Parts: sequence; structure tokens; C-alpha cells
Amino acid sequence: MIATRLRQRRATTAPVQGTPSRPKVVVVGAGFAGLAAVEELAKFTADVTLVDRHNFATFQPLLYQVATAGLNPGDVAFPIRTVIRSMARTKFEQGELASVDAERKFIVLEDGRTLDYDYLILGVGATANYFGIAGAREYSHAIYTLDEALDVRNHLFRQFEQAVAHGVRDGALTFVVVGGGATGVELAGAIAELAHKALYTDYTSLNPDDVKVILIEQQSRLLEAFHEELSEYARRELRTRGVTVLLEETVEALEPGVILLHSGREIQNGLVLWAAGVAVPAVVGRLGLPTGRGGRLMVGGDLRVIGSEHIFAVGDTALASDLSGNPLPQLAQPAIQGGRHAALQICALAKGETTYPFRYRDKGTMATIGRRAAVAEVGHGIRLSGTPAWLAWLGLHVVTLLGSRNKASVMINWTWHYISWGKGPRVILGG
Ligand SMILES: Cc1cc2nc3c(=O)[nH]c(=O)nc-3n(C[C@H](O)[C@H](O)[C@H](O)COP(=O)(O)OP(=O)(O)OC[C@H]3O[C@@H](n4cnc5c(N)ncnc54)[C@H](O)[C@@H]3O)c2cc1C
Repeated sequence: MIATRLRQRRATTAPVQGTPSRPKVVVVGAGFAGLAAVEELAKFTADVTLVDRHNFATFQPLLYQVATAGLNPGDVAFPIRTVIRSMARTKFEQGELASVDAERKFIVLEDGRTLDYDYLILGVGATANYFGIAGAREYSHAIYTLDEALDVRNHLFRQFEQAVAHGVRDGALTFVVVGGGATGVELAGAIAELAHKALYTDYTSLNPDDVKVILIEQQSRLLEAFHEELSEYARRELRTRGVTVLLEETVEALEPGVILLHSGREIQNGLVLWAAGVAVPAVVGRLGLPTGRGGRLMVGGDLRVIGSEHIFAVGDTALASDLSGNPLPQLAQPAIQGGRHAALQICALAKGETTYPFRYRDKGTMATIGRRAAVAEVGHGIRLSGTPAWLAWLGLHVVTLLGSRNKASVMINWTWHYISWGKGPRVILGG
């Protein structure tokens, strides 16, 4: 208790001299964190420029459903200009962050444009961590962007079409997911559901027994962040859906069409999905700002980057901690709450007030496995699995989606998916 109070006091800092009452704020990244910051700043007198490399915000938690033809790409993307339409002092610039001049307070975009700031909020999200495993980057797919999700969808359906045309060769219908966390479990469950349902309806000449979905996890259980009971439930449910779960297996290397495991096992495959680890985008390491575990930007209690009075880091990009000093998970809730907090600190500083520390409120964690199967931990030791967890998962995702059109579209798609046993957009785009 005393230690906590001390930590809080240390994180509280004096007002920054010379802060204008109407500061210029640049927010880089229109993800959960950046958008939460912008929404909060819009309530206050600040001139805000939001920057993102895309002109839309991506709802990452449902990307895997785009990849497995459950949802359309437009369901999980929302135009940024629509988000900020009602925010009078907020503008958007599409561009990719290249560098930050912390001394002179401006950022440089890849095309050479510069943007001055009084305060900068960095929330550029995360990307895959390949841990230096040979061939992992080249011969696997990760799903962090809409393009990547569509790439996976194209690849999956090309495998089916090729199998119809030329027969099932060299494990062409073996789909391997690496990483048994929430993303890996969701992907494995969705691919298994898609593969088996699609074969029965659309690819009737293929034998369902030729499809294999393998989930590889190096720990002794899936969903390490959840209670053991829920891990076991997830494993059982995946098995029922035809997924082979390999625990305590480590990936040694990837070669074209083959994944090599530490145990000596080699798996010929048609697709490897990488859900094994999270890193930050390469640009973060080039900003000249202090980084810690996973390359994340080191921040103080108020979420300012260590050593920078005017730069905040939020969401997956930041190495923020809870009050016990444990790093916060790279999930939507810490990003949303962190984004809001950074905005509130800028408001406080502009009013000549002191900053105060970020307190993360854990609202629980969920993961879905497939139709009527999910797990959820919702605080106070309450654990759910099966249909109640699945309904909670569906409800939460619809509520969190941006835009009424997207919410309605996702609900219609899910209902259709449920009734029709998954006849989604099974199309190969781009030839
Ligand atoms: C497949 C998948 C499933 C997930 N499922 C869940 C889940 O079920 N529940 C959950 O809580 N969390 C989930 N997460 C994690 C969650 O999506 C992230 O924690 C959350 O998106 C982090 O928010 P953020 O704002 O930090 O980053 P993001 O939402 O990733 O936003 C970062 C933004 O920065 C932009 N950007 C990146 N680099 C640059 C640059 N150089 N210049 C300009 N802009 C840039 C990107 O375009 C993006 O818009 C999932 C993540 C993935 C990938």
C-alpha cells in the first residue's frame, strides 16, 4: 500500500513550463489508443492532428474472421475522416511516421512532410515477433492489417482450388497455426470450422479427412493468460472441431511448405499462420526514444516517454505497467484507457496542473473458439465458458466496433453465418 502510494507520488509531475492553453497535439496511430485520445482531446481546447498510414481504423480483434471468410473487409474497417467529422479542431493526415525530433518538437513522415507539436502521442500498435526463427517471416502469415487478413483468405481458398484441380499434394490442405494464445486459438478454431464446412458445401470433390489444422504451442497449455480450467476447455473444444493441438513443441525453422519442430518433427503444409509473439513496428526502434521489453517505448506513470516531457506513448507501443509494476497486456482495453489517460494529462498540463498516474482497470479477457464455444474471465474470479462466454464475446465485439453500419453489418453477417453454417465471402481477390 505504502509502496503503491510512493509510486503514485513519484509519477505525478509538475506542470510543464510554457505549455500553451490551446496546445497543438499530434496523435500518431488511429487504433484503439489513438482514437480514444483524439475523442478525449476533442472535448478540450486543443488543435489535434491525427496521423495514420491508412485512411481507416482497423478493428484488429475481428481480422481473423475476415481471413476465414466470416466477415467482409469493410465490416472491420472504418474511415478515419468519418470518426473525426464532428470534431471541429481535429484534422487527419494520412502518412507514415518516419522520425521524431524530440528537441525541436516535430515529426517527419515518410514522404518528407513535417508536423509541429506541443504534445505528441505515439500509438502505432504492434506487429508480429518472429524471435529470429529462420524462415518465419518469409514463410508464414501474420494478421495485423486488413491486407494481411485478405492475403490469408486468398491463400486459403487458393489451396482449396488447387487441391480440386491437382489433388491434395504435399500437405496442401494442412494449415498450421503457431502460438496458442487467444489469437492462435481463435484462428485455429475458425479455420477448422471453415475448412470442414466449406468442404461439405462448396468443395464436395475433396475429402474432409485431407484437411488438417494443427495448433503449435510451446507452453504446456493453451491460453496461458487464462485459468487452467479454461485452457483445458479450449483444448477439448478445438479437438472436437478437428484441430490437432501440439503442446510443448517449439518451432525451429520454416522452409517453403515445411515447418520444422524442435522435436525433429517436420510438417508439410499449405499455410502457416504466425500468432506466436508481438513486437512493435520497426519505426519505433528508430525514434531515438528509450525502449524496453519487446521494443516497447518506456513510459513513466503518467504515460510520458521516459526522458520526454512532451511525448506520450500509448497502447501496444508503450511498455506501461499496472500499479504492481507488471507490464500491461497488449490488448484493446489498456490501449483505450491509456489513450484517454494521455489526452487527459495533456489537458491537465495545458491548464497548468500536474499529471497523475495511469491506473488500468482490468475489465476481463475473452477468447472465442468457434460456434457457441468461448472462454471469458470477467473479474472477481468469474469464469465463463461455452455459450454464455460466446454470447458475451459476440456482444462485446459488436458494442466495441466503430460505426452503426459496421455494427449492423457484423450482426447480420454473424446471424447469417450461424444459420447458414458459415457461407461467408469465400472469394479469392486479385487474380
Ligand atoms: C488478430 C488479432 C486479434 C486480436 N484480438 C484481440 C481481442 O480479442 N481482444 C483484445 O482486447 N485485443 C485483441 N487484439 C489486440 C488489440 O487489437 C490491440 O491490443 C489493439 O489494437 C492495440 O491498440 P493500439 O491503438 O495500440 O494499436 P492498433 O489498434 O494496432 O493501432 C495502431 C495504428 O497505428 C497505425 N500505424 C502503424 N504504424 C504507423 C506508422 N509508422 N505511421 C502511421 N501510422 C502507423 C496503424 O495503421 C494503426 O491504425 C488482437 C490483435 C490482433 C492482431
